[in-house]
Amino acid sequence: MKRIIALLAGFAVTTCILTGCTPDPVQDPGTSSPEEITSSASEAVSSEEIQSQAESSQEAPSQTVSSKPVVSQGNPSQFVSSETTSLVLPDVTDLKDQPHYREELTKRYATYKAKNPKLTNEQIVTRVNIGLDQPYYTGATPTDLSDGILMVVNKYHYLPEDYQPENMELVDKKYWSVGFPVPLYMQMEAKLAFESLCEGGLAEGMTILARSGFRDYAFQKRIYNNYVSMDGREKADTYSARPGYSEHQTGLAMDVCTDTHGYLQFYKTEEAKWVKKNAHTYGFIIRYTEEDVSITGYSAEAWHLRYVGVEAATYIYENGITFDEYHARFVAQN
Ligand SMILES: [Zn+2]
Repeated sequence: MKRIIALLAGFAVTTCILTGCTPDPVQDPGTSSPEEITSSASEAVSSEEIQSQAESSQEAPSQTVSSKPVVSQGNPSQFVSSETTSLVLPDVTDLKDQPHYREELTKRYATYKAKNPKLTNEQIVTRVNIGLDQPYYTGATPTDLSDGILMVVNKYHYLPEDYQPENMELVDKKYWSVGFPVPLYMQMEAKLAFESLCEGGLAEGMTILARSGFRDYAFQKRIYNNYVSMDGREKADTYSARPGYSEHQTGLAMDVCTDTHGYLQFYKTEEAKWVKKNAHTYGFIIRYTEEDVSITGYSAEAWHLRYVGVEAATYIYENGITFDEYHARFVAQN
């Protein structure tokens, strides 16, 4: 614990790191052993990733890693591989009508279409534009920071090691998990929206609490490396973001829980149902869903909210798409 306190003290005010939910002490995700983690009370550990791993080994609720399709280092069924060289590539002339068609990707569109004949033309173009026809992290490029609240951070776009938002503010402490030991920051616009969401929930008897907001590169690196040492890189990649690839570094994400349920159990709550139904009206989306594992590359996380603004959130909600797809269609500069 001393090490943690020292670590926390060493971070600049705006460089908070986030830890566990509710009144539990901070633990060091870099030093906690799996035994320590599994013996902790639920929601007691310092990082969602560590807790996720520990709890998922004990039970199989629909929201935990063990119940999810394992997303391997990229979904092989979607990739251009050596075997595809023998594929007869379909004519994709009709794809050129798609607004985000990119001439230089023609062969990849054709290959992807050959391997995924049931997808619509829009899906073909969108998914290849995202990069999903290639293994995750292939050709990854820096996130376009000029996209602002619509910046995309996923397995194909990453943030610089030294990136942290300039306009971060503390989330009002009354929305923090009880006894939360470290500051919770978000970008100002997201913070205000999050507080409105919490208030909106309270008005309907829902207690939605913040448990993990901004996380910097260094802390994410420690978390991720710990998981890799525990589970290996391939499995860790299905539930933990590599450093630079975490949405928490944007200051636009917040993990939530309630006063009775930690984040891993959040999906069981009335609050989760309320969030699913209403978050978009405050500009938030549930970023990683069960239905979209093959696109996001992450197990479902009912607790992980991402701020994208009301317009984008509403579109995503109403059309049942991922933010990755939304970004590829409406934000990315081709
Ligand atoms: Zn999260």
